[in-house]
Amino acid sequence: MNKDFEMVIGLEVHAELKTATKIFCGCSTKFGAEPNTQCCPVCTGMPGSLPVLNLQVVDYAVKAGLATNCTIASFSKEDRKNYFYPDLPKAYQISQFDLPLCSHGWLDVETEAGSKRIGITRIHIEEDAGKLVHVEGHGTLIDCNRCGVPLIEIVSEPDIRSAEEAKAYLQKLRAILLYTGVSDCRMNEGSLRCDVNLSVRKKGSDKLGTRTEMKNLNSFAYVVKAIEYEFNRQVAVIEAGDAVVQETRRFDPATGKTSSMRSKEDADDYRYFPDPDLPPICISEEKRQELASQIPTLPDERKALYQEKYGLSALAAEFLVMRKEIADYFEAAATLTKYPLIAANLVNSEIARLTPEEGTVPVAPAHLARLADLSGEGKLNSSMCKEVLSILFKEDQDPDALIAKGGFEQVSDEDLLRSMAKEVVASSEKILADYRSGNKKAFQALVGQMMKRTKGKGNPALIQKLLKEEIGE
Ligand SMILES: [Zn+2]
Repeated sequence: MNKDFEMVIGLEVHAELKTATKIFCGCSTKFGAEPNTQCCPVCTGMPGSLPVLNLQVVDYAVKAGLATNCTIASFSKEDRKNYFYPDLPKAYQISQFDLPLCSHGWLDVETEAGSKRIGITRIHIEEDAGKLVHVEGHGTLIDCNRCGVPLIEIVSEPDIRSAEEAKAYLQKLRAILLYTGVSDCRMNEGSLRCDVNLSVRKKGSDKLGTRTEMKNLNSFAYVVKAIEYEFNRQVAVIEAGDAVVQETRRFDPATGKTSSMRSKEDADDYRYFPDPDLPPICISEEKRQELASQIPTLPDERKALYQEKYGLSALAAEFLVMRKEIADYFEAAATLTKYPLIAANLVNSEIARLTPEEGTVPVAPAHLARLADLSGEGKLNSSMCKEVLSILFKEDQDPDALIAKGGFEQVSDEDLLRSMAKEVVASSEKILADYRSGNKKAFQALVGQMMKRTKGKGNPALIQKLLKEEIGE
């Protein structure tokens, strides 16, 4: 990463809304059906057909706006965005141009560097296009099932300055959409996709550079890789004395590189105009309040609560609230243990890792609470907790019975541990010399040897105390 330059990133996220039917007709939105079995004259743009707006789409979009601190427009409208592409039978997409439903929002993200607020320019509703399927030797086929599936497009301000911030923003946005229930955010099914706009400039400059756009990235890992590659590429272009070309670029996950797809004219000319078949959308103050009252406790509210009530760090609390299922689970366990902070650590490490995306935690909250208590009382160390949890994930059972049966009891016999510590210290001349010459990390090597001798069951606090005594500290 070149330290003289900084990146300026804005993200455009498309999220499919979780309605049962499409935005302007009664066709199903269910994913994975046989091609062209979920379409009708309206969503395939047959002459004479008329769209009727699905009001659930408006409700969901307004909820997404309220949950991201947006201003909700009392008056907005839908516009035709005219362009030709084979996946768009109507040759125009119904979207929103100058009067989006939601605008001027923001959300806060947490990274290693601290907390940061990212602005949200607008959220508007629109319809999805169909899907082109390229079949080797048979040309290209079209599947219209996706035509007219409702989307919200969430456009951020160019406030993002690193790949890490971009990822944190996407994760937070996804969490908010899942909490509010407006989208299932399944990236592997394309219901959440991201376009990255990126430019670079000399640090300290307030002038924006020429940007490129990378479209339809469907994994957070790809977003990070695409940003890192594109930053370095643009810096290299500028340092070679050339100019960055404004264009759309394709990211290839196989190579981790971006390549030019098409150059962009200065302004796209979509010839937007208000759709004459659709009346304006008017949202009364009453309606806005009704929708606001349906918004559940959001990630940030929970995060603040966990920091205050359980003393979690901002980063740990942020991680915990990202998945609603996991946060619900933690709350259930936290009320049952004397050591909620240990429970939080176990949830953030092992439980978050072992629980499949969209899955539920198979371990009873009371069982996790019991493990946290045993750990807090010094009867189980962290590696034993990990091992017990991996067994409970396969078959949930009473942890006390499992521990008695499986010999998980922590070794806290002071005499036994002291004699081991004597042996370890006596046989580790080199490590000791290293430690005494100032390398404090060398101490961990001694702890490691003790853990090896106790087969990972030694009480870590007692081991550290005894080792220090034997060294003479
Ligand atoms: Zn239809």
